[in-house]
Amino acid sequence: MRVVEFKDRPVLQEIITNLRDKNTGRVKFRKLLQRYGRYGGYEIANKIEYREGEVETPLGIAKGTFPLDKENVVIIKVLRAAIPMAEGLVKVFPKARLGFITAKRGEAPSFKIEVAYSNIPHITNRDIVIIVDPMLATGSTMEAILRKIVKEYGERKAKQYIVFSLIAAKEGIERLKKVEEELNIEITLYIGAIDEKLNEKGYIVPGLGDAGDRAFGTTH
Ligand code: URA
Repeated sequence: MRVVEFKDRPVLQEIITNLRDKNTGRVKFRKLLQRYGRYGGYEIANKIEYREGEVETPLGIAKGTFPLDKENVVIIKVLRAAIPMAEGLVKVFPKARLGFITAKRGEAPSFKIEVAYSNIPHITNRDIVIIVDPMLATGSTMEAILRKIVKEYGERKAKQYIVFSLIAAKEGIERLKKVEEELNIEITLYIGAIDEKLNEKGYIVPGLGDAGDRAFGTTH
């Protein structure tokens, strides 16, 4: 598995710092998630394939650069925390086909995942599938989602599977590596920060708390 950590991207690191800050309210939190989705999306877009060509200007012919895969992007939002982040990402890939999936994590120690709803476009071997979920904690949600996508929606496997997250725990990354091997797919993880540990409830520490609750103002 390829892990691309945005360590040397201070603009993204500043966004993450503000998201981590417990004093950041929900309006700003949502905006920051959107911004991370957009700026992180540019990093992803810089890594897809382009071809060289020509473009006619009003005065002549210039060398040009054309994306090969921008038409073949499928963005899958893991509800609900991914909504603002995916909004930012769609600005970078406006023609993307969009899929939705809900995955609810049960209580410790099993953290069993229930995928209650999914509506995902048909995936072909030309597609780049980007799964958006801000927090990669135990990795069990992402595992359930990848299994579902590969088994139920891919006629043939996608050209590339990208997991686009904000903060990961090492445990989640290790889990993804195993899933990649088992499903025989290639995953690239784009991640803003890798934190040390999970607490007993499966939250990333120090992390940023519950991303969905903070974005949507839910209190339990
Ligand atoms: N989901 C969150 O929103 N936060 C975590 O720390 C882990 C999972």
